[in-house]
Amino acid sequence: MKWLFAKIADAVNAQKKRKTKMAYKLSSRSKSRLEGVHPKLVAVVERAIEITEVDFGVIQGVRTIEEQKELVAKGASQTMKSMHLPQEDGHGHAVDLMAYIGSRGSWELNLYDNIADAVKQAAEELDVRIRWGAAWHIDDIRTWNGTMEEAMNEYVDLRRSQGRRPFIDAPHFELR
Ligand SMILES: [Zn+2]
Repeated sequence: MKWLFAKIADAVNAQKKRKTKMAYKLSSRSKSRLEGVHPKLVAVVERAIEITEVDFGVIQGVRTIEEQKELVAKGASQTMKSMHLPQEDGHGHAVDLMAYIGSRGSWELNLYDNIADAVKQAAEELDVRIRWGAAWHIDDIRTWNGTMEEAMNEYVDLRRSQGRRPFIDAPHFELR
């Protein structure tokens, strides 16, 4: 009898999961913004949207040098060596993902560590080295044991201990 009860419990749990699990999809606009991005990073984003608890869209993939110059001038980026620029292999190596609540984009920081958790899991599954813009000190998020919220907190503490301001760019993920 035990196995029968176990089977019923499994079936009930599977049904619950189907009901509660929100499956998100990338919009065609998001997909178009992945054009020119390295296929490994694209694969990670496409897997992350399937498993994330927080919906997201792609707001930026590849940038032109002119776009990057403007961002640096505005203080929105710190470097002309951005991974969003086409790299030696011709692909962009970074994406910016924006959190969505319903149809609205949100800058609530606590949504972004959830997205980063999904990106981490996708990176693990697909064996891809990724760095996150809210935990710059971790070169490969697969090596981090803990939540990405904890990773961000450690980054903030590290910078403060060095007397430096943390540079949090939570939508940003880049290939390493
Ligand atoms: Zn970025």
